[in-house]
This record gives sequence, structure tokens and C-alpha cells, in this order.
Amino acid sequence: MRQIETAQGTARLVPLNEVFEGRLERLPVVLRILLENVARRDPGRLAAFVAALDRWIDDGTSGGEVDFHPSRVLMHDTTCVPALVDIAAMRDAIAEAGGDPSSLTPALPVDVSVDHSVAVDWYGRPGAREHNMRREMDRNSERYRLMKWATTALPGVRVHPPGTGIMHTLNLEQLATVIRIEERDGERWVAPDTLVGTDSHTPMINGIGVLAWGVGGLEAESVLFGMPVTLRIPDVVGVHLTGRLKPGVLSTDLALEVTHLLRRHGIAGEFVEFFGAGVSTLTGGDRAVVANMAPEYGASTGFFPIDTQTIAYLRETGRSADHCALVETAARALGLWFDPAAEPRYTRVVELDLANVTPLLAGPCRPQDKLPLDEAARALEAASGQPFRQGTQGIPDGAIAIAAITSCTNTSDRRLLAAAGLVARKARCLGLRPPTWVKTSLAPGSPSAEQFLSASGLLADLEALGFGIVGHGCTTCIGNSGPLQPDMAEAIAGGTVATALLSGNRNFPGRVHPALQFGFLASPPLVVALSLVGRIVPDPMNVEIARGAGGTPIRLGELLASDAEIDAVVRQFSEPQAFREAFAQAGQYEPWQQLDAPRSVRFPWSETSTYLRRPPFAAAGQENRLGAYTAHPLLVLGDDMTTDHISPAGQIAAGSLAGQHLIERGDPPADLNVYAARRGNWQAMVRGLFDNRTAANVLIGGRPASRTIHAPTLEEGPLWNVAERYRAEGRSVVLVAGERYGTGSSRDWAAKGVALLGVRAVLAPSFERIHRTNLVGMGVLPIVIDRATPFSPGPTDRIEIDATQVVPRGPISVTLLRPDGTRQQLQARAAVETDREAAILVSGGMIPAILSARLRRQA
Ligand code: SF4
Repeated sequence: MRQIETAQGTARLVPLNEVFEGRLERLPVVLRILLENVARRDPGRLAAFVAALDRWIDDGTSGGEVDFHPSRVLMHDTTCVPALVDIAAMRDAIAEAGGDPSSLTPALPVDVSVDHSVAVDWYGRPGAREHNMRREMDRNSERYRLMKWATTALPGVRVHPPGTGIMHTLNLEQLATVIRIEERDGERWVAPDTLVGTDSHTPMINGIGVLAWGVGGLEAESVLFGMPVTLRIPDVVGVHLTGRLKPGVLSTDLALEVTHLLRRHGIAGEFVEFFGAGVSTLTGGDRAVVANMAPEYGASTGFFPIDTQTIAYLRETGRSADHCALVETAARALGLWFDPAAEPRYTRVVELDLANVTPLLAGPCRPQDKLPLDEAARALEAASGQPFRQGTQGIPDGAIAIAAITSCTNTSDRRLLAAAGLVARKARCLGLRPPTWVKTSLAPGSPSAEQFLSASGLLADLEALGFGIVGHGCTTCIGNSGPLQPDMAEAIAGGTVATALLSGNRNFPGRVHPALQFGFLASPPLVVALSLVGRIVPDPMNVEIARGAGGTPIRLGELLASDAEIDAVVRQFSEPQAFREAFAQAGQYEPWQQLDAPRSVRFPWSETSTYLRRPPFAAAGQENRLGAYTAHPLLVLGDDMTTDHISPAGQIAAGSLAGQHLIERGDPPADLNVYAARRGNWQAMVRGLFDNRTAANVLIGGRPASRTIHAPTLEEGPLWNVAERYRAEGRSVVLVAGERYGTGSSRDWAAKGVALLGVRAVLAPSFERIHRTNLVGMGVLPIVIDRATPFSPGPTDRIEIDATQVVPRGPISVTLLRPDGTRQQLQARAAVETDREAAILVSGGMIPAILSARLRRQA
């Protein structure tokens, strides 16, 4: 160990050069950070881990495991509320078993941002933001009270109120230290800042050299109670960046290009690390945009090591000179400083010449489907399945229903905001506005972005076009886009093909708005420019948008700002001190400060609440779902079933099963809020499973998966009712799905809901990483079925499973039983990665495992 001097005095540090003598430069930086973590937190296992990494360098892969101890946890309001509900219920369970409920407290700092609930009810007029925030507080006060309870009942939990920004921007601008000083057992350590977050876009912070990834809510619960994240030593894909971006190409274009490229290379949960001379040409802001989209390119991380661009980013966002000096000194001493000439060993390498990236759109249904601008109209027409025609109400096919500058991804970087504002400025000078059917909005990721846009005068330009600020939260990106313009809604109902256009990171059908099957992802300046045309057209940049002096045509492309114009605005108006000031001011939001919250050790549940209900799975002594059994297929689903399909986040319709349940309990049919806000109410959530009309159930001929068939009677009914019927009859059920089951977000409700349906196992050819761990966390066994064998059970087929013994990646016996007595044996294995996961399944899930451990300790 080495000592270094810091502003707070002498501190110890792990010099990785000595720990991994002679071969450190061959080790990807992400693995160096894991090595540091083991050396500092678990020195007894260091020798074995060093040996495993030696073998990793030889083979580029490893079956070994590592226990990783992150330094903190990040959550948002819709993932934190279900976790807090679980914790409150666990405290009840401990108290009821005679234990001390206050013993269940977080072992790590937990930051929670309240960002996922604000909706775009008002837009394009003065006071829109204030109105939307007031409605947010009215709609969510019960949930927010629970969160305020947590700040007093659970030491270490900090809640950042509405208006303080989107969690990943908040992390970049305020929370991340990159290198931190930690006090442990009376000693001071200098160590890398690391975290896990209950959101799939947590890797955004990889852009500034902080190792982090998204985990499910259940895994986060175990981490915050002091358990490590146990993972297989990851495969690491190196993306070799050469060249530099051409003028006019923005970080959004690069992120979409990387998404396309890496999806084509079939990344499936590996760690991605960027290396090569091209890295040094990208700013911290550029890198964060690319890192943010790691889940879209299928990776756990999108890591950029620490270098002078990182230090510049820290300085520009108001970090102190002392801290910037510490980061540089410590990163060099630890062996984490980036060397553009280095070529570490990677599991595989993907090449990307930055000079080949062009301005792009991605869509109309998936983020990896990149399109040159002049091909978007053709792609939309093809996806709609009909030739474009003149629509109803004068709204043409290809119309843009929503144009939103939104998301942490593309509103955290000043250059992207400046570029959008400069398009608006030129359009305003020409007297242009989007057509009235376009719903416009701006939701920057932090209050400091507003300060920057105001100071530069660009906010007034954006407002003049309808892009006034509607809130500092996820809004459209998470589907809280509010109602469409009435004439647009009518046109869509009449068959007009319409799309969303947003600077977000996802465009799955129905994600942005339930009525919209299509969405294009684009940089903020393209969102503003294309909104002026009002529809997706061939060759948009050559559309004549206005006439200049002497009647000269002005083409849309001429509104885009040059790099020099963008950089001049950023240089002049981005103030480092504004980051802290704007954040501190937003944290004083009066309605939040005045919100009354209980201050008890146990949370006082209300019998009449339709937002917070004590969940049945947060109890000790649950039986596990393993064993040998014969099951009915409850659902049979196709490929790419996302967590949005399984457990939607958007609006609850009054006619839905969940809506009816809430209305029967007194909630107003006109304002049932969104599913994301009901995640503290298991009774509503379980009834809302698969409430997404694009999720098809093969068992009932492809009709919506919110319904299914009861095999013994062949009667069809709502999914929850059929599942209850099976449960009452004591029958086992499983779920069968296609490729990439659980793609999307870290939404633990997609697993909790399936567990509450009584599902014992999910069988699929492949699983998305976070959802797989969430299933394990709920005690549901994920089983990988060999994709070479066609497997599509019918309603009267049954499935025989022997999961008595579950070992990581071990075989599971699965046999399909046909009604005619024939049997089909399938090649299958447990999608279980570590011994710890196997132990969780044996315990019946993560929560019973935590509870049993606590109760044992207190006995
Ligand atoms: S990706 Fe969208 S929904 Fe997720 S945190 Fe960012 S803004 Fe919010």
C-alpha cells in the first residue's frame, strides 16, 4: 500500500502496478477497478483474484467470480418507492418476528432523485413547468411522503426533490467524485468512486471514469444492506476509437452509431470499454452521451477511463481545484490514468473511425436502427405497412405528434443544448414555428442547463417555437408525455401514421405515448429543425423552409449551427459555479419542503391507500419455487419482449383491469396516474402486467398478453384472473418467451409481477442481464432453452421441469408433454451465473434471504 497527501491529510491507496506487477497495462481499466476493489475491501481473496485475472489475460474470458463492493447506490423515485415499500414491509416482518426493525438500515449512501413522475400536461405556454410540477406533487404526494419518511427513518438516504434534475445528470454534475476519500476501520483511503443504480442508464457516469452499472431494484436492496454484487469476471469488449468527429457531427450521432455498431456485433451484457487515440478527442460531455446508451447497445458498461478531458469536465462543472488535483494524482498513482497508445487485452475488439460518423436518426421502432436523415420517411412508411396518403383533419401521414428535447442522454451536454437553441434562434428570426399538431417540449436534465440557456438568451428562442421548459425530469423519455394535441389524437384514431421525434434513447412501440407506435431518436438540434416541417419527409435538410432577402429559398439544413457557433456560446455562457448554485436553489422547492412525512421507525400503512400497499413477498420463510413439477404455460410470448411490455410505465386506462381495481377503491377515472407511480401498490401493478397492446400471447392466437387461456377449461380471461385460478387449483405455471426476454430497463416490477402470477420459471433462448437478475431476486428460475430446438407450446401442452438441483449454468431437465402423449426433451440450462444466485433461489428470493439473515443475527 502507498500513502499519498491529500487536502484532507495523508491517505492510503492501492498501487495497482505493484498488485498486478508487470502486466497492468494489459488489463482493461474496468478490471483494474475491480482489482482495486478486491485489494482494498477483501484482501484475503486478492491472491486468488490476481491469479484469475492472469488467466483472464491469457484467455480474454473467465468463469471466475468476483465480489464487488460499490461505494454508493443511486435510485429514482419509481424504482426507489418499491424498494422502500419492501424495506418498510421487511421492518414489519422483523418486528412481527420479535426483532428490532431499526436494525434494517442501509450500509451505504443512497441518493434518490425525484425525476420520473413529472408529466407534460402543459407545454408551449408560460407557467407550464410550474403547473406540471404542481400536478406532480398533487398526484404523487403519498409516494413522496414515503420517500421523505425514508430520509429520517433510514440513515444515509438522501432524496433530491422534484426540479433538481434527472438522476444521471445529477450524478454527473453533482454526486460523482471520480476519486473519493473513504474512512474505513479508522483509516483513510483514496479510492475510485463506484456505484450501482436502479436504472439501466446508470453507465452514463462511465463517461467520466466512474465504474457503475444498472442493477435491478432487488439487487440494489441487497447492496444497500451491505452485500456485495457477485458477478462473473466480465468479458470486456474494447471499442477502438480512431480519427475524430467531422464538423457538424454531434455526440448524439456518435451514440446512435455506436448503438448500431455494437448491436450488430451482438453485445450481450459484456462490459464495454473505449480505447485508442480517438478517445482523447471526445469531451467528458460527449463521452457521457455515448456511455448513457450502454443498455441500448446491449452492454453493462460503456466505460471511458480518466484523462485530462475528465479533469476538464470536473472543472467546468464546478468541482474545486483541490478535488481536480486529487483525481489526477490518485488516478495516476492507482494505475487508472488513460494512455491513448495503450492496447490492453480485450475479449474482442470492435473498430470505429470517428470520421465515418454522420448526422443520424434512429428508428422508427428500435434505437439500434440508424438511418441517414433522407431515409427516415421511407423507413416509417415501410414500418407502417401502408403507402403514405393525406390523413384526416389535414394532418398528413408521417406527421410528428411529439417533438421533445428530452432525456438525460441528450440534455446534459451543453453543446447539444446550445445547438438546439441556435436552430431555434435562426427559425425565430425567420418567423417560423412548428405546425400546431406538433406537441413541443424541453425537459433539460438539470437546473443548471436552464441557467445556461437563459444566460445565453437561447431559452427565449426555444420558447418562441414552443420548446419552453416543461420540467427537469424524464417526461417524454419515460412516456410521461401527457395528452397529444386533440386533432392529432383524432387523426391517429382515424388511421393517420404519426410518430414521436425525441432526443431520447428509446423508441419501442408505445413507450413515448400509448397511441404512438413509432418514434425517431435524434439530436436536440434535429428535433427542433424537423419539428418545423412537422412531418418526416424524404431529404428533410433540402426542404425549403422560408424565403430570404430577394426571395432566395432557405433550406432547413441552413438553420443548423456550425461547430464554431456552438462552441462560442458554450465558452461564453457556461459558468462552473452555476452548477452548484442552480442545484442548491432547486433543492429548496417549497411544496416539497412543506410536505408532511411520518418520523417513525416503521412506516404507518394506510388501509385505504391506492399507492402504497404492504407487499406479500416481503415476508420471511417463503417457500422456494424450485423442485420437480409439471406446469401449464401461462403465457407464450415472442422475441424482444421488453420490460415495457411486461410491466408498462405509462398511463393507466380506466377500462383496464388495473384501472377498474383503482376506480372500485375510489380513485377518479379521469386521473388514474401512470403505472410507474403505482409501483408501491402491488394489487394495481399485478393487474397491469402486459397491459401493452403490442405484447402478443401466442396461446390465444396473438391477441394481447394481458389475457390468456386456462388450459383445463380452455376458457379465456384476464391474465391475473387466470393465474389466480391456477393458484387456487394448486397447479404450477411457467412463462415461455423468445429471444432477449426482458430487454429494456431495470424495472423490478417486471419480475415481481411475474412472481406474483405464481410463475415458477421463465423459459427463453436469451435474457437481458438486469431482468435475469431480477427474476432470480424474486425466486423465479430463468431457464435458457437451446435456440436450435423449435419450442412453442400450445394451450393444452404441459412442461415437465426438474429444477431440484440448480448450479450456475448447469443443465435443467425440460420436457414438453403433448396431449397425445408424445414427449419432446429440450436442451436447457439454468440462466444462473453465480453460486450466490443459486443460493438466493433456494431461499425463495432476495428479500426472504435478507430477512432470514437479519433474523438469524438477532436470534
Ligand atoms: S433514460 Fe429517460 S427515463 Fe431513463 S433516466 Fe434518462 S431521462 Fe429518465
